[in-house]
Amino acid sequence: MMNYDVIVIGSGIAGYSAAIKCLEHGLKTAVVSSGQSALHFSSGSIDLLSHSPLTHKLIDDPWAEIDALPTALPQHPYAKVGGKNVRSAMNWYQQMLAANGLAMSTLPSSHNHFRITTLGTLKSTWLSQPYVEKIEQNFSNLAKFKRIVMIAVDGFRDFQPHIALGNLQQHPAFKYITIKTAKVSLTAFGQLNRNPYDLRSIDISRILRDEAQFTEFANQLLKVATPEDLLMMPSIMGNGDGLELMHKLSRYTGLHLHEVPTMPPSLLGIRIEDVMMHTFIKKGGVLHKGDEVLGGQFEDQGGSMNLASIQTKKMGEMNLTAKHYILASGSFFSKGLIANQNSIKEPIFNLDTEVTGERNEWHQHDFFSSKPHPFLSFGVVTDKNFTPFIQGQKVNNLHCIGAILSGYNPITHGCGGGVAVSTAYWVVEQIVAGLRSELLMKEVSA
Ligand SMILES: Cc1cc2nc3c(=O)[nH]c(=O)nc-3n(C[C@H](O)[C@H](O)[C@H](O)COP(=O)(O)OP(=O)(O)OC[C@H]3O[C@@H](n4cnc5c(N)ncnc54)[C@H](O)[C@@H]3O)c2cc1C
Repeated sequence: MMNYDVIVIGSGIAGYSAAIKCLEHGLKTAVVSSGQSALHFSSGSIDLLSHSPLTHKLIDDPWAEIDALPTALPQHPYAKVGGKNVRSAMNWYQQMLAANGLAMSTLPSSHNHFRITTLGTLKSTWLSQPYVEKIEQNFSNLAKFKRIVMIAVDGFRDFQPHIALGNLQQHPAFKYITIKTAKVSLTAFGQLNRNPYDLRSIDISRILRDEAQFTEFANQLLKVATPEDLLMMPSIMGNGDGLELMHKLSRYTGLHLHEVPTMPPSLLGIRIEDVMMHTFIKKGGVLHKGDEVLGGQFEDQGGSMNLASIQTKKMGEMNLTAKHYILASGSFFSKGLIANQNSIKEPIFNLDTEVTGERNEWHQHDFFSSKPHPFLSFGVVTDKNFTPFIQGQKVNNLHCIGAILSGYNPITHGCGGGVAVSTAYWVVEQIVAGLRSELLMKEVSA
């Protein structure tokens, strides 16, 4: 048996945030994770709340809306955490990433900002990486750019600037800015024994680690853009070396860089995952990566139950045990939830889930409808402390966080990253408070 204070299942934003916070409180912590998280597909910006969960309209100030949720939508995870704790959680997360080499920032107002996407559309978000331009929602800070220059890397098909240009030019706020595309090429592409069209961003990032290739790339950027331009480039730097190459490119060229995520894998998302993984290991956490939790053994507590141990695929007969377990196995995308014909299932522990309507009402028939797809709000039912149930019986020492939770729509309302961080933070705070009071009780009765 391997014993921990806390075992976290899943290594996405929610799982790593909870695990790092546990280590900061001195708890012996392990993470068991079967694979990639949603970060590999994400923009690498953290959404807090881009649209109102009540009206579905775009919002500028997410905090006012979050503060209103306990009354308006008590089942929303932010309502359960509370606005004050969401603020503390997001501050903590920003500081933790910055202390470990990834300084992300919000607008000074702490309101939402737009980022220009790979397709040249505008997406509202809250916390962005250093080389992602934060555009005010009233576009007041756009005037500082003379032009927007979009860079195509010859032979790389995962970013097509002419599509981005076409879309961005349609937007009224960009009508008065010159937007152009420019092509750069890399001699390394000619020396490959594979078609450059097969290359992903991750392959190019390896090529650009070479000093000669990096300099060739940087010099070409200097020929097509000036420091007065916003230079929009695909995110092709920094697999495993964080922001090092982007900082170097910025210093070398003096250009105003704006990275956009490419088709998956998204280097911007991987950068966040890498920082959290290294932080967790550096702080003494135990990582069981590439292992899958299969199920658990429960103890009856008379009306409720406790999770006693968990089994994993690789550990076989050797169960893992902990005082508390945190389930951060994600949504349908990461197989934390599975859809059956008429129900959805949480596959590890068979926790109670919430579904509304008949199967044919689970999604909008138009996939790109502005109305939310109901299935995105389905998930595990929890009480106000994020404790789940099995057939109505509470599992006292199991806590659910992040995308597995029901009661909110991470995609339509743009709150996936924020809910993952704040539920992780809040659940750990409660575990720690519970352990402290247990200790106090023992001391008093001794
Ligand atoms: C395509 C896509 C793009 C998105 N883009 C953004 C964005 O740009 N900004 C934003 O804020 N939000 C975005 N979101 C939403 C946001 O990414 C998610 O809400 C959030 O990242 C969820 O984090 P999580 O840790 O809860 O789950 P996940 O990131 O899904 O992580 C779940 C983890 O659990 C593991 N796991 C699952 N089952 C098991 C098991 N049995 N045993 C062990 N491990 C298991 C998985 O391998 C994975 O590591 C996006 C979501 C998607 C699907």
